[in-house]
Amino acid sequence: MSVVGESYLVGLVGEGVRPSLTPPLHEREADRHGLRYLYRPIDLLALDRSGDDLDLTLGRLLDAALALGFSALNVTHPCKQRVLAHLDEVSPSAAAIGSVNTVLLADGRRIGHNTDVTGFASALRDGLPDADLSAVAVVGAGGAGAAVACALLDAGAARLTIADLDHRRAGDLAASLAARFPEAEVAGVSADGLAARITDPRHPETGLVNASFVGMHTHPGIPLDPGLLRPAVWVADIVYRPIDTEFLRAARAAGCRTLDGGGMAVGQAADAFRLITGVHPDRERMRAHFVEMIREGR
Ligand code: NAD
Repeated sequence: MSVVGESYLVGLVGEGVRPSLTPPLHEREADRHGLRYLYRPIDLLALDRSGDDLDLTLGRLLDAALALGFSALNVTHPCKQRVLAHLDEVSPSAAAIGSVNTVLLADGRRIGHNTDVTGFASALRDGLPDADLSAVAVVGAGGAGAAVACALLDAGAARLTIADLDHRRAGDLAASLAARFPEAEVAGVSADGLAARITDPRHPETGLVNASFVGMHTHPGIPLDPGLLRPAVWVADIVYRPIDTEFLRAARAAGCRTLDGGGMAVGQAADAFRLITGVHPDRERMRAHFVEMIREGR
């Protein structure tokens, strides 16, 4: 919990993290609360690792962060799964998907959380509060897809389809989530299998989420055939560079209600900020700051 006069030192560990919007989001929000808060990107690509493998580097970074009095680390690609081996405790949802994006450091201990899960949950609650969760499909079974799928099941999704080009990856994720959510029907399919499921009139999907990288500036395109979109289906994208993806534009053109990736990006940052400081951030203010940075092209 936050203590008057306490200061916070936080780092973001990952590859290519220097342009991340998360550090400025945390720092500006902390300023508004009068907290002394420094948040530094720690770019693995810029470290001289002398051939050390990722596990050795992560272990050393966590030891150093504890020794130097860091309050917490956020971790991102390619560390979200690998960091688990270096933690003393892991929250239930992070353990369920084997992925951690926030490590709290206190009293010599490292405690892992996943605020991508709670971040997507709050984005969906705020952006599409009456979204029908009876049959939802998630495209992409990577770390982000796992977080989104877990959030949807936590929120009560009855039937969840996880699709990935790598159908084994989709199947493995579906199997581990089915074990944690036995009341739900969870299936992993290939990308082609998803098209077949969406067009099956017995099981119409009520919501679709893109949790793959397709649609990012660096991977332009659309993750599924826009001809499959129907007005009754809500559509979410978690890609946020650009914020208005080709998938979202196609969904609006088809008459679907949509949710952009900014809500999850802000939600994960807001939830990590609260875990680190114990202070409830102003999510609207963080969202406005996020939009401002995206508009500036940062
Ligand atoms: P990842 O590379 O671990 O996983 C992506 C998965 O998508 C892979 O398994 C890949 O096979 C699959 N895929 C790619 N194209 C596909 C297609 N056409 N059909 C089906 N599956 C396909 O990546 P990740 O870490 O899970 O991140 C995915 C995306 O989510 C990135 O764009 C990232 O920026 C975004 N993201 C956003 C937020 C947010 O807060 N909004 C948070 C985390 C990640």
